[in-house]
Amino acid sequence: MSVSLILLNDTLRLHDNPLLHIADGGSAKAAVIVLNRHAFFAQQYGIKRANLQRLQQQLSVIRSLSNALAARNIGLITLFGDTAQSLLKLAQQLGATRLYCAKPVATYEYAAIARLSQQLSVTTLDCNSLLGTTSDPGLAKLPDSFTAFRKQYEPSLQVALPVDIAMPDDTWLTPAQTARYNADFTQLLQQYLPHQLQFKASEDAAMAHLKHYIWQQRHILHYKDSRNQLIGKHYASFSSSALALGSLSVRWLWHEIERFEQQILANDSTYWLKFELLWREFFRWQFRKYDARWFSKGGIQSQINFTAPVLNTDQQQHFRNWCSANTGNAFIDANMTLLNQTGLMSNRGRQNVASYLIHDLGIDWRLGAAYFEQRLLDYDCASNWGNWAYIAGTGNSQARHFNVQKQAQLYDPDGSFVHAITGVLAL
Ligand SMILES: Cc1cc2nc3c(=O)[nH]c(=O)nc-3n(C[C@H](O)[C@H](O)[C@H](O)COP(=O)(O)OP(=O)(O)OC[C@H]3O[C@@H](n4cnc5c(N)ncnc54)[C@H](O)[C@@H]3O)c2cc1C
Repeated sequence: MSVSLILLNDTLRLHDNPLLHIADGGSAKAAVIVLNRHAFFAQQYGIKRANLQRLQQQLSVIRSLSNALAARNIGLITLFGDTAQSLLKLAQQLGATRLYCAKPVATYEYAAIARLSQQLSVTTLDCNSLLGTTSDPGLAKLPDSFTAFRKQYEPSLQVALPVDIAMPDDTWLTPAQTARYNADFTQLLQQYLPHQLQFKASEDAAMAHLKHYIWQQRHILHYKDSRNQLIGKHYASFSSSALALGSLSVRWLWHEIERFEQQILANDSTYWLKFELLWREFFRWQFRKYDARWFSKGGIQSQINFTAPVLNTDQQQHFRNWCSANTGNAFIDANMTLLNQTGLMSNRGRQNVASYLIHDLGIDWRLGAAYFEQRLLDYDCASNWGNWAYIAGTGNSQARHFNVQKQAQLYDPDGSFVHAITGVLAL
């Protein structure tokens, strides 16, 4: 009997997941995830790619999806290793000849799919975009400025409705049939996510949070006014981690906002949240367009140069101080402390610490991006590297140099943010 592999790496969810609807002529289907060893355990420029928190969050979401699928009698195979290699081995073991997965965004996924396509029939589905297949911009014509992109696509944007949660069918391999392939995952869970550790990342938690934010507390109504705050629970949507993991569908979120606008109220804030989701969308298409060039020293603006950043002794010390929140600038250090302690930082904070590293300390932007990659619980390849390049002036804009003293006065006028984080009153 022929088997299809359904790769759920970028869609760690039941809701709005087109991959769970694949019928494939009634042939057997195996739900699979590959936890990419490289993305979690390798280094770039001598910086670990992910810290323990990020790994734990990933494991937590996968475990919760595995439980949700098991409740529908669908087994989930979670492999650990190189994506293409692991899938080819599994395909051989199961006699699989086809693979379905979400349309990729970043270089590593494209490379994996290219390798897999040599031996399997690979079909990619648009699962995570707003423009979708109907308004697929065509990369050659994709504008390189966000404003041009927005003006071109926003007026006619028809975001596809989320697909319903798939009804179980009997063509999926069951938990009993897939259990034997999960030895590595079980070991990873035991080692890195022991039961006593309560890590709440899951599809259900993400959806409940957004329902609370939009419908119950209606915090969405002040989004535009509060989004530049530096700390707090509801100044922004806090949807980024779930979107980055794929445990939340961007199309579902978009339609929740529009439903709220239709049923309750549409204002500048409800619009602005959609505007920010368009930024995310923009970077994702930009990544498809320029691929690995985003990791080049001069980004998409210059000749390709993948040589690693070089720092002199002073710069090495400055970079260490920046990472460990010891620059001596209270505003920068408070933001970096927040990142180091929670894995998150406000957008305003991110812009400032990035500008400070690049333009005040004169350090290669790619080191900052690599450090953020390790730390951010909402790490998303396109959004992170795209935003860093933006501030460095190597991406979709001229360099953005913030005057961090002025920014601190503007966004933390009484020093309460710095005080709350460091316990030290800014003088
Ligand atoms: C240097 C730097 C690095 C960044 N790295 C990441 C990253 O790795 N992952 C990430 O999701 N965002 C990143 N951002 C963008 C932004 O800071 C975060 O998306 C936002 O702070 C997340 O909080 P939120 O979910 O409450 O956002 P909200 O303000 O509620 O926005 C809603 C959603 O819109 C999207 N969004 C908002 N702002 C941006 C933006 N500037 N670029 C792209 N998408 C945006 C996100 O998906 C976000 O969840 C980075 C920004 C900077 C300046």
